[in-house]
Amino acid sequence: MDGEFIAWEQAQVHVLTHTLHYGAGAFEGERAYKTDRGPAIFRLGEHTERLFYSTGVIGLELPFTQEEINNATIELIRRNEVEHCYIRPLAFYGYGKMGLNPTGAPAQLMIACWPWGAYLPHEMVDLKVSSFIRIHPRSTVADAKICGHYVNSILAVRELIGTHYHEALFLDEHEQIAEGPGENFFIVKDGGLITPPAGTILQGITRATIMELAKAEGLPVTERVIPIQEALEADEAFYTGTAAEVTPIRSIDDKTIGSGEVGEITGKLKNQYLDIVSGRNPRYDHYLTYVNG
Ligand code: PMP
Repeated sequence: MDGEFIAWEQAQVHVLTHTLHYGAGAFEGERAYKTDRGPAIFRLGEHTERLFYSTGVIGLELPFTQEEINNATIELIRRNEVEHCYIRPLAFYGYGKMGLNPTGAPAQLMIACWPWGAYLPHEMVDLKVSSFIRIHPRSTVADAKICGHYVNSILAVRELIGTHYHEALFLDEHEQIAEGPGENFFIVKDGGLITPPAGTILQGITRATIMELAKAEGLPVTERVIPIQEALEADEAFYTGTAAEVTPIRSIDDKTIGSGEVGEITGKLKNQYLDIVSGRNPRYDHYLTYVNG
């Protein structure tokens, strides 16, 4: 935290921490996987780059370089002696000034890690279309990973409490699919992948990886708007995300997608993804940072 390794219990902030009140912080979600060579962080550099993009959007100037943050992340995992973990960097405006303009509040950074299993612990998930639309790109910078954006996600997830649905799905104001509360959305139709374009979505690092894998397999990949009706008629559908990895979708608003089983293409991409993050595909080794060298 703020350049030092401190004990979990000591990682504390004042109640007048600016970001706690107004949500102008930026964060990342990363994973380190167990490999034959010890823990390896998947696409660390890209996550840190996105963190800097997000902090730039809210004008938060961290007193650290990307390289320093990458090295601190590696050291954090090494010191915690975990085989695998989730990694959460958070850049925030600290205590020192209230009022909306954060200029003058200190820029702080913490990175935590802990073992965290499957985010959606189901072989397939049933989605509910949220009654809330995704954050509007003209209300904020939608492709930055800003703390306050997640109130939109929390509202959608809270709608699922007490229902049989596993996860929410956001549309935009034109009834076209945007993304999940913490996942990107794909459909498979006629052997090709279609995913919503940049604009209303966070451009996921898992999304980019899956698009790259699909292209390498010779599958056509299209980024374009997907009306909800088209998604319901897809052959397969799945979510991607660092936390969710590749999660096959069984139904949307109780309408079964395709056969209702894990689709052939989804299953294949999911296995390929898990092979890559676990260091079992040398062709993609450049995406892994082995914490023990
Ligand atoms: N959309 C949202 C809203 C998210 O929070 C996430 C998780 N970071 C994603 C998509 C997936 O992004 P990534 O693959 O980079 O984890």
